[in-house]
Amino acid sequence: PESGTANIGVVGLAVMGSNLARNLASREGNTVAVFNRSPERTQTLVTEHPEAGFVASEGYDEFVASLAKPRTAIIMVQAGTGTDAVISDLVQRFEPGDIIVDGGNANFHDTIRREADIKPTGIHFVGMGVSGGEEGALNGPSLMPGGAAESYETLGPILQTIAAVAPDGEPCVTHVGTDGAGHFVKMVHNGIEYADMQLIAEAYDLIRQGTGRSPAEIADVFAEWNTGELESYLIEITAEVLRQTDAATGRPLVDVILDEAGAKGTGAWTVQNALDLGVPTSGIAEAVFARSLSSKRGQREAAADLPGPSGEWKVDDADAFIEDVRRALYASKIIAYSQGFDEIVAGAEQFGWDIHKGDIAKIWRAGCIIRARFLNRIADAYAEDPSLVALVVAPYFRDAVAGAQESWRRIAAIAAQAGIPTPAFASSLAYYDGLRAERLPAALIQGQRDYFGAHTYQRVDQPGVFHTLWSGDR
Ligand code: NAP
Repeated sequence: PESGTANIGVVGLAVMGSNLARNLASREGNTVAVFNRSPERTQTLVTEHPEAGFVASEGYDEFVASLAKPRTAIIMVQAGTGTDAVISDLVQRFEPGDIIVDGGNANFHDTIRREADIKPTGIHFVGMGVSGGEEGALNGPSLMPGGAAESYETLGPILQTIAAVAPDGEPCVTHVGTDGAGHFVKMVHNGIEYADMQLIAEAYDLIRQGTGRSPAEIADVFAEWNTGELESYLIEITAEVLRQTDAATGRPLVDVILDEAGAKGTGAWTVQNALDLGVPTSGIAEAVFARSLSSKRGQREAAADLPGPSGEWKVDDADAFIEDVRRALYASKIIAYSQGFDEIVAGAEQFGWDIHKGDIAKIWRAGCIIRARFLNRIADAYAEDPSLVALVVAPYFRDAVAGAQESWRRIAAIAAQAGIPTPAFASSLAYYDGLRAERLPAALIQGQRDYFGAHTYQRVDQPGVFHTLWSGDR
């Protein structure tokens, strides 16, 4: 077909695709082609937003014809088979040099497979992580595109116009790396988000049980925290959620919401891949498991009368306790991010991606769910030392944890004694102590492995590999 007029197209016009299309259309210089499998969605979008000047199509031929060459289309459909179906329809009609972007929440392994399948056609396939939910898609998401660097020459300038803008004016988008790198980094972003949310939830629970303050009063605590080093979107919305009253009962809404946390799977993917890569992302894992535990209604009911401290427990000095919780939260959060970035480093090494860690921290500063003031500190840390072995040993974070660690220990101890579950706080502290330990009991584990399986061990005082003839040898 003849080259059309639209410089960008969007396929899939549910909430994410519609908002992204409107965002694109609102930027100077863009003409946006839109298409959805069911034409009703397309009609609704076009009718409700005449100002956008959408070029609408009812079929793939028409849609492809409406795109200027090289054609660029962003797919925003249900991840999995829906994405494969749309890709196949576009690949049949696109030409070498055209670009297909998958902005859905794809598993990065699928993205690697799809890119490899499409590569021989000369069409560029870009898996792109999109964070920020519907609001972000409309007003500025954090964008994590992968794929061939060449495709970014066309795509980059368009994405820069729609991405969120960080406080220093930089757009929250960068070419993350080749093939599945963008979706991989988006996956880790979501894993960190799970940890961040769990840590905040534990902090709330400790304050509520330890001080007896009401959700509305604790909302004030979070609002206050949001003016300091913890400043972030998740802390901000936590204050708003805690302040909300249920219209039907007049009770705090948080007390009316069923305490079973849902999940869509990206947190679990982060942990599954961390296990495969051998990266201890224990904070993220505990956050995923805490959601699983919350949903085990039958087990929780059966276990409700197991012995433990009663709920009747209050701290003497509420203000000091709350400050301890704040510091424990900050230290644990540093660990969660440190572990997340470790996974990015390991993934980059395993899959051959040249990922700039500082740039990742920068594109998470606005638009996405984990946007936070301290991402500037992470960007600074990697700028100062691009080969930093762990975030937590960078000067700023080392000092931050040093200032927090006594509070952190007090909180972990109090929680254990009071019987309040704080898996993310506790595991982050255990990880920190494991990391800094001069000697680990891993030596004993090596001894056990050599005993039962002749797995051999190394010695501290001489090179080589050793096996002991244990008395248990048969
Ligand atoms: P969704 O509910 O995940 O998917 C609905 C869309 O997929 C509809 O346009 C539907 O077309 C289309 N679709 C499904 N199967 C298809 C097929 N076989 N062929 C063609 N089209 C098909 O929509 P969403 O919530 O807007 O999310 C879109 C993508 O963005 C998903 O991958 C999601 O994971 C990702 N994402 C979502 C968020 C979020 O906050 N919601 C954030 C980041 C990323 P019909 O109208 O014809 O049914």
